[in-house]
Amino acid sequence: MWDCIVIGAGPAGSAAAYHLAKQGRSVLILEKDMHPRYKPCGGGVSPEVAQWFDFDFSPAISTTVRRFRFTYEGGDPVEVEATTREPLWLVRREVFDAFLVAQAQAQGAQLKAGCAALSLRFEDSAWTVDTPEGPLRARYLVAADGAKGTVAKMLGFEARRFRMAGAIEAECATPGPADLPLCLDFGTVGKGYLWNFPKADGQSLGVGVLRGRQNRHLRDVLKDYAAGFDVELDGCAVAAHPIVLWDGDQDLHTQQALIAGEAACIVDPFTAEGIRPSLRTGVLAAEAIHAALGGGDRALESYTARVQQEIGAEMMWARRLSAMFFHLPSLGYKVGVKHPGSPQRMAQLLCGELRYSEVAQRALHRLSGGIF
Ligand SMILES: Cc1cc2nc3c(=O)[nH]c(=O)nc-3n(C[C@H](O)[C@H](O)[C@H](O)COP(=O)(O)OP(=O)(O)OC[C@H]3O[C@@H](n4cnc5c(N)ncnc54)[C@H](O)[C@@H]3O)c2cc1C
Repeated sequence: MWDCIVIGAGPAGSAAAYHLAKQGRSVLILEKDMHPRYKPCGGGVSPEVAQWFDFDFSPAISTTVRRFRFTYEGGDPVEVEATTREPLWLVRREVFDAFLVAQAQAQGAQLKAGCAALSLRFEDSAWTVDTPEGPLRARYLVAADGAKGTVAKMLGFEARRFRMAGAIEAECATPGPADLPLCLDFGTVGKGYLWNFPKADGQSLGVGVLRGRQNRHLRDVLKDYAAGFDVELDGCAVAAHPIVLWDGDQDLHTQQALIAGEAACIVDPFTAEGIRPSLRTGVLAAEAIHAALGGGDRALESYTARVQQEIGAEMMWARRLSAMFFHLPSLGYKVGVKHPGSPQRMAQLLCGELRYSEVAQRALHRLSGGIF
């Protein structure tokens, strides 16, 4: 009987397992794939996450950037050198995720890789998880199985609140020029953006659609964008993946179980940033389960409350900003990105040194022509 089984060894699952194991709890992580495993992702990570862990992330960081370049339909550029305390981290997910799960293992968490959770049953005051290797038992569960996961549904979260988005990532093995900034293009894709994130040993190019349908063939759009960086898309590993955007607060706890990370629909609806909120929900889930194991009343309810308080409040502003920005991206770009001071604020937001609540009211006021 484990204290906790964590399903999924992405950032959310590893963060939860790390902190539970560190508290002396017995933790089993089930991961259906084998690490290192590829996850389509730009790999932009706010350095803010470092404060939630007591180890050094350096081995998992491919490179860092301070220079940000924004464009609209490929033109009208604006560049900024972020004056943040820390630069933005850029990671390769196969490295980052394998590093995190190794940190959890070093604290005593056990990993069963290549072992999927197939079904669940609550019996005799504990959870039984059926796997290809037989049933496993735990007093508590964390579902951290990501955007494509099904464990939340198995736990009874039938109607989670989220907005489904999607993105295509092209992993290019050739590094860009040494001074390549982090590039974001708005407008080419009406309700989304294109990106090129530099890595030490390559580049991550991609296209994300955050709202509504796209008429244009996204792979062709990405191909054209990549060509602008002298990158041949056909020479890259290209993969599409859904993104589960936050669309409102909801319960994230049930009988002796929590949902965390993208399984809990906590991706930023404006930037599609999911790593930072996944790590944070993993940390909070561990705190709640540790407290519950210690007999704390209403510990799991407090997880839902804390996620709403810390993440939901910010996501609400991000959703408003996203709706306004992508409704009229040309205006959004003009007043939300090009306006003096705005690129610096975008960089600060991504680096975790500014809250949406601090900037959004000002941006919404400008975008709405003073109505809000
Ligand atoms: C193309 C793209 C680009 C993105 N770029 C960024 C970015 O630059 N920055 C950023 O912050 N976010 C980005 N995101 C979002 C980010 O990748 C995710 O939000 C983040 O990975 C979620 O972490 P997680 O731990 O919740 O889930 P995941 O990282 O998806 O991990 C879930 C794990 O659970 C495992 N699993 C699933 N089902 C089972 C099962 N039944 N049993 C056992 N294991 C299971 C999976 O194999 C996986 O390893 C991007 C997303 C996409 C699609």
